[in-house]
Amino acid sequence: MKCESTRSGAGINEATVPEAILKGLAPDGGLYVWDKFPVMHDLAGLLEKDNISITVNIAAVLLPGFSKEEIGFAVGNGYSGRFSVPELTPVVKVGPAWALELFHGPSLAFKDMALCVLPRLVHAAKKQMGDDSDTLVLVATSGDTGKAALEGFCGIPGCAVLVFFPYNGVSPLQELQMRTQPGANAVCAVRGNFDDTQRGVKQIFNAYSSGELSFGGVKLSSANSINIGRLVPQIAYYFTSYASLIKNGTLKRGDKLDFIIPTGNFGNILSGWIAKQMGLPVGRLVCASNENDVLTEFINTGKYDHRRDFKTTASPSMDIIMSSNLERLLYWLSGRDSGATAGFMEALARNGYYNIPDYMLESVKSDFYAVKCDDASAFKHIRRVWEKYGYLLDPHTAVAWNAYEEYAAKSENPCVVLATASPFKFAGSVLKALGITPPDGTFNCLDMLSRVTRIPVPHPFDELRSMRIRHEDTISIGEMSSYAQRFAGEING
Ligand SMILES: *Cc1c(COP(=O)(O)O)cnc(C)c1O
Repeated sequence: MKCESTRSGAGINEATVPEAILKGLAPDGGLYVWDKFPVMHDLAGLLEKDNISITVNIAAVLLPGFSKEEIGFAVGNGYSGRFSVPELTPVVKVGPAWALELFHGPSLAFKDMALCVLPRLVHAAKKQMGDDSDTLVLVATSGDTGKAALEGFCGIPGCAVLVFFPYNGVSPLQELQMRTQPGANAVCAVRGNFDDTQRGVKQIFNAYSSGELSFGGVKLSSANSINIGRLVPQIAYYFTSYASLIKNGTLKRGDKLDFIIPTGNFGNILSGWIAKQMGLPVGRLVCASNENDVLTEFINTGKYDHRRDFKTTASPSMDIIMSSNLERLLYWLSGRDSGATAGFMEALARNGYYNIPDYMLESVKSDFYAVKCDDASAFKHIRRVWEKYGYLLDPHTAVAWNAYEEYAAKSENPCVVLATASPFKFAGSVLKALGITPPDGTFNCLDMLSRVTRIPVPHPFDELRSMRIRHEDTISIGEMSSYAQRFAGEING
C-alpha cells in the first residue's frame, strides 16, 4: 500500500505514507490518498478490544512505513493524560439516538482526536528519514484546528506551528484559546473568511513545492485535513463507537449503523466513508451542513457550486464552501481517475462549479444523505434536546441533530450523532438558544452557562482565565506568505 495523488494517479507523484504525512499536499496540488483500502478481516475480534487498542490496530494497517512501536507511541502517548474521560470518546444515549462525544481532549473539539497523534507521526517520519531540519507546520483554521494543532505539536522537537484564522470568523473562546498559546509558535488573524485563509495557505504550499518560495532551511508541513495523517485517528473512532454499541447490546454482529456528521471540510465524514470501505457495517453517512450548504446541494444534485455568498453562522467551524476533502471522494468514486478529478478541480477554479456524472452521483446517494440547517433551527434543537433529554448540544452538534430528526424517520438502523465540540466553546450562542441573554464577557458567559445547566466549566477553559494574550497580529490575505517567511526566519535564527 502506498499513496498517490488525486491529480496524478498511479505511477506519478507516488509517496510512502511517511512521505505523504511530511509533505501534506502532493507536488501537483492534489491530495494524497491510499491506492487501496485494507479490509479488517477479524472485525469481531477487533471490536472486542478497548478504544486505544482498536485505534492502534486501525492505524497499523493504514500507516505502512511506520513500525508497531512508532504507532503504539503516537497513539498511546498522544492521548495519554490529555483527555478528561478514560474511554476518550464515550458514546452516550440521548433520547432515541446516540451521541459520540469527540470533545474531551485539550481543545474541547474533535480535531484533538487527530492532532494528538499526527505530530508524533511527523516526528517519527522525520527521524526515519534522518531529517533534522526545522519543520514549520502551517495551519488555516475555521476555529478548532488551530488550538488543536498548537496543543498537539507542543513539545515535539523541531516543529513550530503558524496558525492563520479568519478575523472575526471564530468564536471568542476559540480566539482566546489561540491567542494565549505559549511556546515558540505564531498565531495571526487574517482579514478574510476561512476560504480565503485556506486558499492563502494552499498558495504558500504550491509556491513552496514548485520552488518559487523558500523558507531557508525550514521545511513546510500541514496539519490541515489535507494531510492524510489526519484521517487515520478519525477513521478509528467510527470503529470504536460501533464497538461500544456492540458491547452495550444495541448492535449485533453485522448490524448496520448510521452516522450523522456535522460537516465543513468533509474530513470527518470522509473518515466514516473509509471505515465503511474497510469493512465496518455502516449504513449511511448523513452530511449535516449549516447555511453554507454547498455539500447538501452536491449530495442531492451532483453539482458542486461555489458561486454563493459565504455566510457567518453560529457554527463557525463549518463555515466553509470549499470542502477540500471532497476531492478524495471524487477520486475514489471515479475509480481512481486522476484525469477526471483534476478536471473537476480545474472547472471549479475556472467556472466556480462542476457536475459529476450520473454513475458517480448514484454512489454518492447510496452512501450519503444530506440535510442543511439554519441557526434558528439549530438553536431550537439545542433548547429542545436540553429540555427533553437533559443533554446539552453545541451549535455544530445541533446542526447534526436537525439532520438526525429528518433522517431517523427514513432509517431503521440505530443512529450515532457525532458531537464535535463542547457546548462551552460556544457558550454565548448556547445561552441564546436556551432563551437567556448572554452577559458581556467570555468568562461571564461560561459561568452563566455552568450555573444554568449545573455542568461544570471544562478545565481547559478555567485555565484560560489567568493566561495573557501573546499573539496580537492581524494581517491582510496578501501578507500571509511574507508573514510565514518572517516566522520561518525566526525559527531558523
Ligand atoms: C472542524 C469541525 C467540524 C467540521 O469537520 P470537517 O472534518 O471539516 O467536516 C464540525 N464541528 C466542529 C466543532 C469542528 O471543529
